[in-house]
Amino acid sequence: MNYFFVFQNKSYDEEYRGGYLWAPQSGRGGKRVSHWEKMKSVKRGDIIIHSFQKKIMAVSIAQKDVYAANKPTELSEEWQHEGWRVDTQYIPFLEQIITSDIMDKLLELQPKTDAPFNRIGRGNTGYLFEANKEMYQYIIQQTALAQNNVLDKQRVIELLNFGENSKKTELEVEMDIEEIAAKQMSPEKLAKQVADSKPKGSQKTESVVYYRSPYIKEMVKQIADGKCQMCGEDAPFYEASNKPYLEEHHVKRLADGGKDAMDNVVAICPNCHRKIHVLNDEVDTIVLEGIAKQNEKQYERLLAYAKSL
Ligand SMILES: [Zn+2]
Ligand SMILES: [Zn+2]
Repeated sequence: MNYFFVFQNKSYDEEYRGGYLWAPQSGRGGKRVSHWEKMKSVKRGDIIIHSFQKKIMAVSIAQKDVYAANKPTELSEEWQHEGWRVDTQYIPFLEQIITSDIMDKLLELQPKTDAPFNRIGRGNTGYLFEANKEMYQYIIQQTALAQNNVLDKQRVIELLNFGENSKKTELEVEMDIEEIAAKQMSPEKLAKQVADSKPKGSQKTESVVYYRSPYIKEMVKQIADGKCQMCGEDAPFYEASNKPYLEEHHVKRLADGGKDAMDNVVAICPNCHRKIHVLNDEVDTIVLEGIAKQNEKQYERLLAYAKSL
């Protein structure tokens, strides 16, 4: 999954209403233009940050890979007709942050090449540029802070890991978007929506299976000794085998390159486990890293002892 940043100073309203990005395939005299050519690298599931007159208006997730399409009639600029189009699902913000207010951080986080802002913090002339996850997440956090109430802040914060799992099917992406929309609806609107919604069938997913060593899992649980390593409470119940029920959690996800190793695994209760995955809180991660380090130390002591026998 890739991240992009688009300057839509000439066309935000039209493109937002139509749910797309569009750029000509070439400029005057057939000249290729790099910030238009960039359109060719957008794929389904990619995340786009939308800016208009220095404001971050929305983020979106591409619904399909880019394709060749003529200039939509509602675009008035005198561009040539052959263009590239990306159909994308916009999620607009109620309150928008201004990029110049956070420019120092944006310059620090933006990619080294094809970045949206130049060294002195001005937007580069052009349409589509590269972004990255760090930049995206920072923008989401700042936008969340700018919202007027807790609920609106939460709605934005939920976009932090928007579109993760690049293997998501169109159906899954659709559900993600519907979920965000649903959370913003009044009970009345929601009731109508439920009445109107039709079943959408199913889609097969290709998912990657990571090996998780059952030995490491059991070792960590034995070290936890029946208590959640996060909240310290007793395991909520006993398994049929009479072992306290705890769940293993990888502090850095295997999908993100985390290792299946003692210093990356903790044993926690289902409540804490859910909480960690739902909130994805940085402070939790730091705490858990510390716990996993302790697990490793305890394991090493045990190993040394086992070898001495
Ligand atoms: Zn717990
Ligand atoms: Zn987990």
